[in-house]
Amino acid sequence: MDVERIMPGMGVRSNVGTMGAAGVTLVRDDVKVLVDTGHYGTRDWLKAELERRKVSPADIDVVVLTHLHWDHCLNVEMFPQARILLGEDELKEGFLMEPGQPQNEAFKAALREMKVETVGDGDRISSHATALLTPGHSPGHVAVALKGDDGRLTVMSGDAVPNYRAYLRGFPDISFHDRKQSEESVKKLKDLRPDLVIPGHDSPFNDGGYVERDDFTLILRRENEENSTFTFRHVPADRPIIHR
Ligand SMILES: [Zn+2]
Repeated sequence: MDVERIMPGMGVRSNVGTMGAAGVTLVRDDVKVLVDTGHYGTRDWLKAELERRKVSPADIDVVVLTHLHWDHCLNVEMFPQARILLGEDELKEGFLMEPGQPQNEAFKAALREMKVETVGDGDRISSHATALLTPGHSPGHVAVALKGDDGRLTVMSGDAVPNYRAYLRGFPDISFHDRKQSEESVKKLKDLRPDLVIPGHDSPFNDGGYVERDDFTLILRRENEENSTFTFRHVPADRPIIHR
């Protein structure tokens, strides 16, 4: 069994709007499980990352959608053969961006044409993975708990804990559904004392802090067909200078 982040998640905000960059994780267990799928804007990248690992979309047995927010689920149609798992309340009340928009029901109708199944708390996803109901950010959010044979616990927390600051603070940046439930869900995940948390929009961490930090490159296309690129990288700061 192994777990690999194949696309990092990040919180992307700009003066011209917010872009969703949800992480995607591949679990190779007795079955191949993909946790979240990203959205249409990341589809070619997802295809390339699977291909690089010699995994075809048809090889994915199970897709877990932590929730139905658009940045996590819009590539689900790449996996028509897979079992699609999500929380029961998410299938009932979940939404792409906001409740009440007509595209929510259209998307759910398309999901119901697929092999969609709802999961409850503790339901088995693969021989080492189980579902953790973690509502609040969305109505029926599920995280995925992966218990290794060595006892190590990895949690793919989706947007129940989208980033390390939410873990420290005790609630996510946005509770679309219910703030109190959001707090309870963060506490539920923390109480498991995970060895590793792979969040929806941040680099992996645990109680000791970040385990890895992702680099990101921002690309602006210029009029002369060149790109201006800006890379954000975490490097150690200079040491303090003390003259006396
Ligand atoms: Zn979300």
